[in-house]
Amino acid sequence: MKNRDIFKLTDKYVANTYARYPVALVRGKGARVWDADGKEYLDFVAGIAVNNLGHCHAAVVRAIQAQARKLIHVSNLYHIAPQAELARELCRRSFADRVFFCNSGAEANEAAIKLTRRYGAERLGGKYEILSTRNSFHGRTLATLTATGQEKVRAGYDPLPAGFRQVPYDDLPAMEGAIDGKTAAILVEPIQGEGGVVVPDPGYLQGLRELCDRRGLLLIFDEVQVGMGRTGKLFAYEHFGVEPDVMTLAKALGGGLPLGAMLAKEAVARSFSPSSHASTFGGNPLVCGVGLAVIRTLLQDGVLKNCVKMGKLLFSGLQRLKKRFPFVRDVRGRGLILGMELEHDGSEIVQDCLTEGLLINCTAQKVLRFLPPLTVGKKDIERALSILERVLARR
Ligand SMILES: *Cc1c(COP(=O)(O)O)cnc(C)c1O
Repeated sequence: MKNRDIFKLTDKYVANTYARYPVALVRGKGARVWDADGKEYLDFVAGIAVNNLGHCHAAVVRAIQAQARKLIHVSNLYHIAPQAELARELCRRSFADRVFFCNSGAEANEAAIKLTRRYGAERLGGKYEILSTRNSFHGRTLATLTATGQEKVRAGYDPLPAGFRQVPYDDLPAMEGAIDGKTAAILVEPIQGEGGVVVPDPGYLQGLRELCDRRGLLLIFDEVQVGMGRTGKLFAYEHFGVEPDVMTLAKALGGGLPLGAMLAKEAVARSFSPSSHASTFGGNPLVCGVGLAVIRTLLQDGVLKNCVKMGKLLFSGLQRLKKRFPFVRDVRGRGLILGMELEHDGSEIVQDCLTEGLLINCTAQKVLRFLPPLTVGKKDIERALSILERVLARR
């Protein structure tokens, strides 16, 4: 099948929920992908921060094959070795004591919301409300889209569940002012991804931690996009000198397989008990076997070091372009989640880059987002910058 044949099938049979670029990707290796007509692209979207080790990394392929030969799925009615091992690995590498496994970022946040409700009922005298931030993104289930601070995500889904409110991001006084007698938790992304790659003031997360400690609230970090090495540390919160009570992961965790996780301190995790939450596929042998290979590979082979180094190279290249093109307003980010804010809508630039063989995307209308694999090399960074420069020069 060629690109056009695949588009036709999608248009006829697939639910109409995505505005797709006219490309069908059929093969990938490292930071490269190929479409069904054989055209090659440099992939600086990486499945939106999923393919942190690049496409079809040998360690991921090996882990899929080895685990698929051994055991693909059994129920959580039984103990599952790779699940137990991955939970240990995540706890050893983080603030957390326990992990609940699920299949996506939305489900990880859904688990965090449900845990907050139970904790609030048991330990906070019935408090249940979760404060989150404007322009945040937490998922597409009814509860997580209600936590999400974007009208377009919620439009048409009334009535929404109760117990969620948003305040401006990176605004401590606004958060403090919003806390009331029902507030149980604060949910934030340490760096907003979909909101336009927004890095908060250095004191913001620390201020939230102090606020939560003072007012007896839970602090929940949504690291679905910025976790698993994306910022140059395994978890983004490590940059800010604070620890949450609960953290959610997904995207890169399964190396491209659907795997999400909700991590929590023991004192909070205790509010879940047998049958209070569950998922049929959550933490199955295959995805957890692969998750183990992903985390081990991320922590070996200098992947995080490469992320920091290549992140600096890309960042300084983008800053150079900002100096050259007055319609570039800002360049920001950490590690290899970088954003270039424009004065105008960025979708034409994304389309032009695609034509030139570079995949990037645009978020919050005006922010070009760069999310290459953490294993990307210097030559590919330079190539991406030269394509982008050529495209920007045509404006
Ligand atoms: C992508 C994303 C989610 C939702 O993840 P899904 O796997 O699409 O459900 C939640 N939070 C953040 C910060 C994300 O970037």
